[in-house]
Amino acid sequence: MSLKHKTPMLDELEKGPWPSFVTEMKKAAKKSPMAEDGLGQLEKSYQTKLGYWKHGGIVGVLGYGGGVIGRYSDLPEEFPEVAHFHTIRINQPSGWYYTTKALREICEIWDRYGSGLTNMHGSTGDLVLLGTNTESLEPLFAEYSSRGWDLGGSGSCLRTPSCCLGQSRCEWANYDTMDVIYNLTQEYQDELHRPAFAYKFKIKAAGCACDCVASIARSDCAIIGTWKGDILIDQAEVKKYADGGMNIQDEIVGMCPTECVSYDGKELKINNPQCNRCMHCIAKMTRALRPSGERGATICIGSKAPIVVGSLLSWVVVPFIKVEAPYTELKELIARIIEWWDDNAKPRERIGELIEVKGMRPFLEAIGVPPQPQQVKEPRKDPFIFFKDEDFEKIYTKDKY
Ligand code: SF4
Ligand code: SF4
Repeated sequence: MSLKHKTPMLDELEKGPWPSFVTEMKKAAKKSPMAEDGLGQLEKSYQTKLGYWKHGGIVGVLGYGGGVIGRYSDLPEEFPEVAHFHTIRINQPSGWYYTTKALREICEIWDRYGSGLTNMHGSTGDLVLLGTNTESLEPLFAEYSSRGWDLGGSGSCLRTPSCCLGQSRCEWANYDTMDVIYNLTQEYQDELHRPAFAYKFKIKAAGCACDCVASIARSDCAIIGTWKGDILIDQAEVKKYADGGMNIQDEIVGMCPTECVSYDGKELKINNPQCNRCMHCIAKMTRALRPSGERGATICIGSKAPIVVGSLLSWVVVPFIKVEAPYTELKELIARIIEWWDDNAKPRERIGELIEVKGMRPFLEAIGVPPQPQQVKEPRKDPFIFFKDEDFEKIYTKDKY
């Protein structure tokens, strides 16, 4: 079946060895007029170098303030099937595990009410369904929710928390990321579905510093697994890596960010107090190195993409916290963080921006976390802890001077 729109520019994106979203859209277009007009409008955008999507009015489902992003075509006469093209966010399961049955269920419902186009997954973590009209929203939501699915967050709310697959498959996970995220998702149902914050707030959980969910760059609150003990070394396995051709000097010693690894050609040594748990050496020499001791997480706050102001990476606020069910300490900390931000932020101001404006000191005071050496934004250059006179009085008593 030939498609109604010619797409010479989009066709270029099907060339080469990579999978192409254009090919997938064409497949969907064979049975979905919405996908077909979506292709047509996109081709026109490529030709004219203009975007034709516009926001207009708020759309959603009864009782929810988020989860649906309203989208409309600026060219409804030319592309009537995409006059409405709303996006639906479905709250993904922790770790993005689906059974085939679950995926079929999602797609079967989506084919009946929407364009058939999906995005697995959006950068927040949700399963994203691309393109439906306003009339379909309530019946679509009724079908999904009756089968146990829920909408994700959108707008100025707690966005759908997400995590790496953690202990379900990964030996490096320092805590159960999936359980934490499931718990936080249940805890924050109200904040997720009823936008009442100054702006968006994202929580991501990574089991270790490899950070497979990019929490350090893409979440306002990153929970990154770490450990307190030494890195245990199996020297026989180190030798096998060397015998197998690994250049330990260049690939491990030379790449350690804190310069705490040494190797004399026979024995690998790690100056553990200097190690910042970056995971590089462990990820490269999995069989030879492993963490030990108490496990938990580092809480980093403040990253964001460059929407209103420039992009930010998170920085350490709590160097170590235990992450064990029922997660009371973690939940109370997050509640204090959100409360300070919500009390002080201007509309559309992320927490990282607010900390930059107000300073780290009032933030730490408000959330009840003491200043610690790990809380430096740019190590050895830009410490932001300022001491008050009374702090010195406590430390330097008259007896000492
Ligand atoms: Fe494993 Fe760490 Fe990646 Fe999580 S972030 S999947 S624990 S390597
Ligand atoms: Fe160095 Fe990172 Fe290995 Fe620690 S984990 S020893 S900082 S490479």
